[in-house]
This record gives sequence, C-alpha cells and structure tokens, in this order.
Amino acid sequence: KTKKKKIRYAVVGLGYIAQVAVLPAFRNARKNSKLVALVSGDKEKLKRLGEKYKIDKCYLYSEFEDCLRSGLVDAVYIATPNFYHRNIMETAAKYGVHVLCEKPMAVTTEDCLSMINEANKNNIQLMIAYRLHFEAANLEAIKIAQSKRLGDLKIFNSVFTMQVKDHNNIRLEEAEKGGGPLYDIGIYCINAARYLFKSEPVEVFAMSAHSKDSRFKKVDELVSCVMKFPDDRLATFSISFGAFASADYDLIGTKGRLRLEKGYEYSTSMALKIYEEKKIITKKYPKRDQFAPELIYFSECIQKKRRPEPSGEEGLADIKIIEALLLSIDLGSPIML
Ligand code: NDP
Repeated sequence: KTKKKKIRYAVVGLGYIAQVAVLPAFRNARKNSKLVALVSGDKEKLKRLGEKYKIDKCYLYSEFEDCLRSGLVDAVYIATPNFYHRNIMETAAKYGVHVLCEKPMAVTTEDCLSMINEANKNNIQLMIAYRLHFEAANLEAIKIAQSKRLGDLKIFNSVFTMQVKDHNNIRLEEAEKGGGPLYDIGIYCINAARYLFKSEPVEVFAMSAHSKDSRFKKVDELVSCVMKFPDDRLATFSISFGAFASADYDLIGTKGRLRLEKGYEYSTSMALKIYEEKKIITKKYPKRDQFAPELIYFSECIQKKRRPEPSGEEGLADIKIIEALLLSIDLGSPIML
C-alpha cells in the first residue's frame, strides 16, 4: 500500500486567527497536512513564528510568488483581512496552488465569481473555511432540523455580539473594505439559517443603528436582519460589535424547538437544548480544535481530487445575501433575491 504524501501548506497573514488557531491546528492535522511556509508583511513576526513552529521558508508579501513558484507548497491558508482574500487566492491559483480561504470568501459577488472562475480555470481546489460545517453540535442541530422531530421548521433566531475594543481592528473598517458586523459575524447567522433550513432566502431586510462611540465612525455598530425563506419560514438575527458577548441560536418548528448556546464559538464548550412537549434534553459539547478537521478534510480533497464542500459557491451564497442586506440598510426597504 503506497502512503499518500502529506499536503504542504503556507499560511498567509499571521494575525489573530492564524496565531491562536490555524498555526497550532497543524499539530492535530499531521496525519495528512504539514505547515511548511509562512507569508507575512512583518519580518519580526516571521522570525518569531518561524522559530516557534520550526519553519525556515518565510516570505514577505513581495516574495509571495517566489513561494508559490518554489514547488514547496501544495496549498495556502489565507488568513488576511477580507479585502485581500481575492488577490491572494487568484495569485495562488495562477501557480496551481490550492486555496483554503477564511470566511467571508471576499467582499463582493463580483470578487467571488472571479475567484470561482480562476479556481476552475487553473484546476485547483478552493474551500472556504466554514469551521462549523465540521463541528459536532452544529451537525447534530442540522440532523435534528432535518429529522422532522421539531415538526415543520418556522423560525430561526440568533444574537451574535461582541465588544471589539481595539479602534484599529480590521473589523471597524468600511464595508467596502470588508469591515462591519455583517461580513464578520452576521455571516455565521446567515450560514446557520441556510444550513438548518437547507434552503436559500428569497427576500431580506435589514436596519442598522449607531451610538456616538468613536469606534463606529466608519461602520455599522449593530444590525438587525430578517430573511424570508420558502415555505413560510423566517430567519431573524441581530449582530453587534459594541455589546456583551453572545453567540446563541434558536430553531423553532411546529412541534419543538432547539437552542444551541455558544453555537458559533471555537474557544468554549457548547450546549444543545432540545425542547419537546413533555421534556427538555441538554447535550454538552466540550471545546475542540475546529481548525484541524478543516485542514484534514481539505488535504483529503486535494489528495483524492475531490471538490470540497464548503465550496466557492457556498462562500458566494453568503456574500450575495450580505450585499442585499447592506443595500437594504441603504435603501430602507426589503430586497428580493
Ligand atoms: P487580524 O487583523 O488579527 O490579522 C490579519 C493579518 O493579515 C494581519 O495581522 C496581517 O498579518 C495581515 N495583513 C495583510 N495585509 C493587511 C492589512 N492591509 N491590514 C491589516 N492586516 C493585514 O485579523 P483576524 O486574524 O482576526 O482575521 C483574519 C481573517 O480571518 C479574516 O478574514 C476573518 O474574517 C477571519 N477570521 C475567522 C475566524 C474563524 O473563526 N474562522 C475568526 C477570526 C477571524 P501580517 O502582519 O503577518 O502580514
């Protein structure tokens, strides 16, 4: 039996998520994935993280194409601000290097379509890093939602909030640069409503609000959204960068309800509660590495030449909805999709 070669990765952009989650995940993904290169705009970071992870292939952005051309990497993990995802992805594609790209896929529908096209043209695999597609509590919620145990599904409702404290955080940039709560956290609510209902919204409406807080000069502080789905279903969610942390969702059908507490988190445990007429069942899900399963799965897709899911089309579906919600805020009216 021939042993398959491990997929060799470069991580591009060594910010928060790269340092707390992506780089450490390679240890748990070592059965088929290997971290071999780092790409950053910061020499000092390259030196420090290169030493920590024993990586000697370190590149500045100006040397990114040398990295891609070297033949030393099979795939890149993009962990830069949203605005740069497209360019980095398309550069990698040109060199036949596969791409695992952080969510949101990009800022506009046009960006996403172009990325999908470049992936197809260059025959590379493109996956969007929706870690919850691999997470046990969310997978159980999907199974229950599809099982009819809750009856006909009617309502999805969610609040996803946090305090973004640092004024220089990329999340506080203009929406045109991929900043704001819809791209960063609203995307989780949209994606969850879509995977629980297993369906696509037909109409959306959103309203935003601001305080005088200087953090929110360029960006919406809080947004509430409504999404209408076929078969008389509504999804509602509220998101904020200026409120106490919350990350729960409820799914309510004609016969029951499920609630997933901390359902979007990666650094705490989750609790799934199922409410039926005469009983309430609670299941606890301990904290687990949610990034390694993505790496393992993507590496398998590359090895087996299999198209990954979450695909570029999945990434695009959320961006289309985010664009419609932003337009709805601007126009003050519902938008048909
Ligand atoms: P950070 O701002 O902490 O890190 C982004 C990094 O990108 C920077 O540290 C920098 O790294 C690099 N970068 C390149 N160009 C720029 C630029 N012009 N301005 C700022 N940074 C730049 O962001 P996060 O790590 O929080 O987010 C990165 C991506 O990961 C986003 O797409 C975000 O949506 C996603 N994310 C996903 C999460 C998940 O759970 N799946 C959770 C958090 C974020 P360097 O100095 O090395 O060049």
